[in-house]
This record gives sequence, structure tokens and C-alpha cells, in this order.
Amino acid sequence: MHEKTFTRHELIEAVFKGASEAAMFADENRRIVQVNPATLEMFGYGPNELIGQQTSILYADESQFHEQGQLRFSSSAPAGTEAYRISYKRKSGEVFPSETIGGPVRDQDGEILGYFGLIRDISDQVRTENSLHELYKISTDQRLTGQQKIQSILELGAKHFSMDFGIVSRIADDTYTVEYATSPDQSLKPNSVFPVENTYCVHTLARDDVTTFHNAGDSEIATHPCYREFQLESYIGLPLTVDGKQYGTVNFSSPTAKRSPFSSQDEEFMRQFEQWISNELQEMQSVERLMQARRDAEEANRTKSRFLATMSHELRTPMTGIFGMLDMMGTTALTPEQKTYLRQTRECAENLLTLLNDVLDLSKVEAGRLTLESIPLQPRELIDSIASTNLPSAQKKGLKLCVDTDVSLPSVLCDPTRMRQVLANLVSNAIKFTREGSITLGCHLVETGTDEVTLRFEVSDTGIGIAQEQLGRIFESFGQADASTSRLYGGTGLGLAICKRLVETMGGQIEVESELNHGATFRFDVTFPLAYGKADPAPDAVGGDATVQDNDNDGLRVLVAEDNEVNAMLLDSMLSKMGHSVTIVTNGAEALRAVQDETFDIAVFDMNMPVMDGVEATRRIRALDSTAARLPIVALTADAILERRQQYLDIGLSEFLTKPINWTALQKALRTHTQSGDNAAPVPDLQQASLSLFERELQNVPLRESAQLDELEHRLGSGALATLVISSFEAFESFAAKLRRDLAKGMPEESRATLHSLKGTALNFGAKRLGLLAAELQRLVTEETETARFDMLIVKLQPTIEETRKVFEERYKVSLAEKQENRFRA
Ligand code: ADP
Repeated sequence: MHEKTFTRHELIEAVFKGASEAAMFADENRRIVQVNPATLEMFGYGPNELIGQQTSILYADESQFHEQGQLRFSSSAPAGTEAYRISYKRKSGEVFPSETIGGPVRDQDGEILGYFGLIRDISDQVRTENSLHELYKISTDQRLTGQQKIQSILELGAKHFSMDFGIVSRIADDTYTVEYATSPDQSLKPNSVFPVENTYCVHTLARDDVTTFHNAGDSEIATHPCYREFQLESYIGLPLTVDGKQYGTVNFSSPTAKRSPFSSQDEEFMRQFEQWISNELQEMQSVERLMQARRDAEEANRTKSRFLATMSHELRTPMTGIFGMLDMMGTTALTPEQKTYLRQTRECAENLLTLLNDVLDLSKVEAGRLTLESIPLQPRELIDSIASTNLPSAQKKGLKLCVDTDVSLPSVLCDPTRMRQVLANLVSNAIKFTREGSITLGCHLVETGTDEVTLRFEVSDTGIGIAQEQLGRIFESFGQADASTSRLYGGTGLGLAICKRLVETMGGQIEVESELNHGATFRFDVTFPLAYGKADPAPDAVGGDATVQDNDNDGLRVLVAEDNEVNAMLLDSMLSKMGHSVTIVTNGAEALRAVQDETFDIAVFDMNMPVMDGVEATRRIRALDSTAARLPIVALTADAILERRQQYLDIGLSEFLTKPINWTALQKALRTHTQSGDNAAPVPDLQQASLSLFERELQNVPLRESAQLDELEHRLGSGALATLVISSFEAFESFAAKLRRDLAKGMPEESRATLHSLKGTALNFGAKRLGLLAAELQRLVTEETETARFDMLIVKLQPTIEETRKVFEERYKVSLAEKQENRFRA
């Protein structure tokens, strides 16, 4: 092998000339003596243009020239080993960053011969560093959405590579869809679609790595459709992988050719872009997946609630039949064993119905389907009624049930059914979880505004209490204080969940205060609109706001005949509270004896009694040959069948009240029959009322007289009551249809009779507003002078039936089929 030997000088010369860095020598005055070809290339000067020039010509900044003179290019400076970052300036004026080393060159004696310098152009490196910094800033900017980040990254890439176009594409089934784009004047729109083979990306996908063209027109790619169509000269692209799957490409392109091919640094940088974009897309996909999962879950929840609501509603219809049939079976001759089975079956059915009702209520609230009514209610009446309904079960356990209300509470507009439901639930819980002591049901005024009032309801007990750590749980669905609760006390844990949601729907917040073994107090405040305005007291004539405490009768001597011990006790305490003196007997025979021995102002007889029933006792009293024969007698019966009513009145009973007892009605009956001595019409005041007054007052009358029906339901069982409600609505409809025919035929007497029946049926079933409307129509229909008023009022009949039906359907969960033909002159 031939070996060439270099002199030391030759060697230095070779390195000097071949170096890619600019290398130069200057004299002790920093005038350029010699430069290598790279210097000329880097700074853009001709071969002789730099020789003899001071190096200051190369500096971008004069002050740096002086600074460097002190640091490196002075006789005292150390040998040039330390690197500096300096901005230099090309002949064109373009400034570029560089890294440089340099310093003095000395002879063997240490005398300065001149200075040397080496300069490396680091524009690319700095650009990359800046872009990376920008990339980091974009990705961590909390204010940007995923889409905005991708858009900004694309714009940054286009700037970095000095390209016009930047695209994130999605490629599926040979179709290239532009998902994100940056272009001059926004000319390239997202969602533009191309066949993938018409794009350079087909090569990128085939290569599965960074693919570049810097001068497509001068390459084999010149025949590619992309070049023919768009004349894109330069391109850098990379397949885009998201979540490990091929997604599309990221690419930058430009119609301008690049002077030199893309560097490996460019390729590396392209990989960085792909990474960041892929991360953003992946992040967006997982957020979208999460949101979709949430939407699915919410929809599933709504579907569940709707399903539960429909299902429990549907299940109630056959339940009504079951109760009806059980009640019927109870009236047949049964062996004691069969009676036990029947009772147990009924209990199971009742539990099932309670559960169904609870599930329905809860799912209704959750599905947003619960609407509250706005009906006038006297809070004290509600509290009293709940207390009297729950009194027997409290007394059975030897508990005291106290009522604690402010003396005067205004009537409010609320949903009485739901209010009752919440309070009744709290009271029955209190009774259930208390072994000894008392339960207090309270209602107090918190704040009074011009047309609204805030009331605080409170139910407290002296029972087992709730442990601190369980307090949060008990309002959750199926939340019971501890696992043994349902074993010891039964229940499902739905009651309080429903109470909480109902109170929230009313705009309140239910809270509990309790300590284990020290009782519990449940309380909530609700703001209600005032029913009659502040200065305007409740209309007593039709509103029925009298409460049991009111005492507007002089003390009467009342004979009560009632065999049921609890009822007798109730009557005793209620009538005494009203200020009457009460004598209790337990059957008709005793009553007959009593009226002959003592003088009474009025008698209240239960109709079903052993030994001698109420009907027989009444007959015999009426047959007596003394003033006792004219004793007003009020009949109490659980038997609400219509025909019976007439029969009772025929035998000389003064008034007929259904059980459970409506105290307001009883009080009115006592007053009516002791003052006038005759059977006054049910609505005497209305005779004089003007039509507009009548209408206004009618609006204040509840569609459904709740307390009476609730007690009825409590006593009769919901099955029997629902059956009665269904037949009463059938009766309303057939009366209404008959009335329409009667009126059409111009038969006022017939119409009057029909309205009379309608009124009776309606009032008997607690359809109070409908009953009063029918009463007024009955009065007007035969009066020739009242035709106009009758015509104005009759149009209200069908809407009132419909409104009443809605309230009843909602309350008894029965479907009361509509009959379309019954439309009045509307
Ligand atoms: P249920 O009574 O059907 O179990 P609730 O939702 O009405 O369901 O009550 C949930 C739980 O809250 C009860 O199981 C009981 O543990 C607790 N709780 C409710 N009221 C009282 C109370 N007055 N005293 C003690 N614990 C109570």
C-alpha cells in the first residue's frame, strides 16, 4: 500500500480547508489574515473580501466585538478553549446564532503571533430549541382545548419548517380526510376529502417513517398526481399513530422547493410533532369516551327511572283488583283459619303496595316527572289530621303523640298530598323507632312576607336515635341506619329518600338531629304562597278551615254510641276538646236507654254495632213518645255506598258522615242540627253568593278533600277505596252524559235531578269542588231568570270533572277512563 506522508503544515492546511466550521486567523490588531472556504460560505463573502478587514465586520453587535476582544482576543487572554454563543452577521445582513471558540496564538517564547477563531452556525439548533420550547408551552397551556392545541402545534410546525401547509389527516378506507389544517388564507378546509393515492401520504404510509421531498419537480415524484395537481415541491410527513393504532398522517408541504434536503434533525423534529399531536388526540379520545360513558350512564339511569315509574304504575292496577277481591272475600263466610290467611295475604299485599308506591314516587322524582299541586291548606288541619290518623298506632305502643303548632297559622297554597306524605312518613318512623316516651309533631311560623310565608315542620321523638356516622346515610335510597334495622323494624329505607326529594322539590331542605339512644328530630322549612293573602282570612263557608280546636258551638251534651274502643276514645277526646260534654255508650240498646234517662242535644251513632245497630236504635228513638224522639242523630259509617245514604236519611237520621271521621264536618253537623233543628242544605251560603264571588271561592275549594279521603283510605284500605273511586268517576261521567241529553231536550226538572245526584256523589267521594259546582248548577237550572248565569257556569262542569279526575288518578294511581262525548257547550 502506498503511504503518503504529510508535513505538519500540510496537515493543518487540510483540516483548515475541509472543516465545516468557519475558521480564521487575525493579526494582533484583529485584522483578518486568513479564512477557510467554510467562512466564505457561512458569511457569504467572496474569496478576498474579508482579508485585511477587522473582525468587527462579522459581528451582529459592535459591543460584542469589544467584549470578545477583552475576553478572548487580548495578550492576557487564556488559550481559546471556552465556547461562547455569539450573534454574527452575514454579508446579506442576516443575523445568525453561533457557537464559537477562539483565542491568542503564541510562538515558542509565548509571544503573540495573532488570534484564531472557529465559528459554528447553530441557527438550526436554536430554531429547534425554540420550537420545542413553544411545543411544550402549547401542550401545557390549560386554557387551550385539545383542538386548539393541535391547531397551534400545526401552525408551529409550518413555521418551523417554513412550509405553507400543515395537515393532520385521518386515513380510512383509502380516503384521506383533512382533520386539522393550516394554510395561507385558510384555503385548505378541515373535512376536505381526497383519495389517499392522490396525496404524498401514500408514500409516507408505505414507508412507515418520516418521508421527505425537498424538490419534487426534480425528482421521480414529478409524475405523482399530488405534484401534477398541487405543484407541491417540498414535503415532510410521518404516519400518525394514536393509542397504538394507525390514525392518519401529520405532514407539512409547500409549493416552494427547498435549497437543501431535510436534515436528520428535521426528521427527528417531525417525530416530536407526531408524538405531541398523537398525545393530544389520545387525550381527546379518552375524554370523549368518558363523556360518552357518562351520557350513556345518565340515559340508562333515566331509562331505568322511566321504566320503574311505568312498571310500578302498571303493577298498581292489578293490585287494586287484588285488594278489591280480598275485601270481597272478607265479606263471605270464612273459617277462622281462612280469616288468618286472608289477613296475612292482605298484609303482604299492603307491604307490596307500599313498596310499589315508594318506588314509583322515587323514580318519578328522579325522572323529573313529579309535579306539585297548589291547593289551599290550613297547616293546623293537616297536622291534626296526621296526628289523629297516627294516634291509634302510637297508643298501641303506649306512646304519647303531641301536637305543637302556633296558635294562628295562615292557610297556604301547597300540595297537601305530598305534605301529608312527608309528615306521615316522619311520624310513622318516629313511632316505629320509639319504645317509650313521646312523639311531637310541630309546625311553626318562621317568616311572613306580603304574599308568602315560611313554615317550619318538625317531628321529634324520644326513641332509639341514630348514630352520628349513620346520619348521612339514612336519606339515601335503601339507606338504613344499620343492617339489623330491617330485621328488627322492617322497612325498606326508601321513606326518607322520598321525603328528602319531596321536600327539595318544594324548595326546602330536610335535616336531622339525633344521638344514639337520645331520640331524633327531623325538621324542614318550606316557603309557601299564602292561600288568601295576608289581610284576607280563609273563606270559612266553603274552605273548611275550621280546626278541631275551634270552639264556636256552645258546649253541647253529646251522646256517642260506638263499639270500637279506639274510635270511641277518639270521639271522646275530640268532642271534649271542642267543648262538649260527652257520654259514651257501646251499642244501640244502651243508647236507647240513655236517651230515655238523660237529655242530650245531639247524638252521634256508629251504624254497625253489636246487640242493636244504629239503624234500629234510630228507628226506635224516633218511635218514642217523648221529646227524645226529635233528638238530632248524626250517623257515622264506613259504608259510603250511595243508596244506603238515602235509606239512612229516610229512617230519620239527621246527617250522614263517613268514617274515618272528618272533624270539621262533624263539627259543622253538630252546629247545623242543634241550631236550626232541620237538615240544612249542604251549601246554604251559596244561595246568596253572586256568581263571581262564587267562582272565586270555588277556586279555593280543594278538588279533592284530602283529609276525609285519606282517613277513609286508612280505614277501608286503598283497594276498596280505589274501587269506590273508579265507580264514582263512572257515575260522574254517566251523570254528565245524562245531563247533556236532558239539557239538549230542554228538560230542566230532569237536569235538576241529575245535578242533584251528581252533587251527592261528588260530595260523598270528597270531590268537593265538583260537588259545590253541581249544587250551584242545580239551584240555577230551574230558575228562568238565571239562564245566563247557568250558561256561564255549566261550561265549567266538564273541566272540573277532568281536573278532579287528574287529582284522583294521581292520588289513587288508577286510570279513570275519559269519555270524550261528554262536552258541555264549551
Ligand atoms: P325505613 O323506615 O323503611 O327503613 P326510612 O328511609 O324511612 O326507611 O328510614 C331510613 C332509616 O333511618 C331507618 O331504617 C332508620 O334506621 C333510620 N331512622 C329513620 N327515622 C328514624 C327515627 N325517628 N329514629 C331513629 N332512626 C330513624
